[in-house]
Amino acid sequence: MLKYKKILLAFGLLLMVVLLMDYFYPVSIGWYIGILIAAVGMLAYGSISIRSGFYGRVICSFDSGDKVMALTFDDGPDELVTPQVLDLLKREHIKAAFFCVGSRILTYPALIERMDREGHIIGNHSFSHHFFFDLFSVKRMEEELMKTEKLVERIIHKKIQLFRPPYGVTNPLLARALQKMNYSVIGWTVKSKDTVIRDEQKLYDRLTGKTGNGGIILFHDTRPHLVPVLDKFIKYARENEYRFERLDKILQIAAYE
Ligand SMILES: [Zn+2]
Repeated sequence: MLKYKKILLAFGLLLMVVLLMDYFYPVSIGWYIGILIAAVGMLAYGSISIRSGFYGRVICSFDSGDKVMALTFDDGPDELVTPQVLDLLKREHIKAAFFCVGSRILTYPALIERMDREGHIIGNHSFSHHFFFDLFSVKRMEEELMKTEKLVERIIHKKIQLFRPPYGVTNPLLARALQKMNYSVIGWTVKSKDTVIRDEQKLYDRLTGKTGNGGIILFHDTRPHLVPVLDKFIKYARENEYRFERLDKILQIAAYE
């Protein structure tokens, strides 16, 4: 049973106990409001915290025993930034994972081909990356994932198996959409916050301060200021004896069917 169902069950039982108490000794309405707020609060926390695993298994870290990083890039391909990231990774002999958006794949199929040719893996990051993706129906979510999957398959002749939820948000609808699909759902250990931290030095400081023993690092190959920071960060990592591994290899899971 998924965690959120267990939580709902627990709150349901609690509500029944309070109702029973209320029957014999009238209790304040505050009890009911308190239970409702606690239930909604917990489920909302589960939605925005990708690590919670409330709505299914999400892989956010790995246990390697040494300093390893798996670089991952979301929201591309981007006409300007993705080629620069690919050039940098090629120069540094690093293989990464790109969680791509279907509508962008449609516009820049050659970049998907290049990612594959250069040894990177491609994951599903929805078709539209719509702001309200999490409110879409189960059917519409399934259609988004299928559409992106088919697009990638048409370009590189491989069926993708990795998915990262847009905005890192999970909920019961997405859980149901994923139930019928055979995806490994991927989160992150370290979020670079490159979409909000525009200052290169601040971004670099955050990365070097957060990496610890490494893990799955989340970037966005849509932000031009990322490229010089990534270059510097890779040098820092190497000087500090980190090594880079491709996500699927370190997790020992299949990127493609
Ligand atoms: Zn995204």
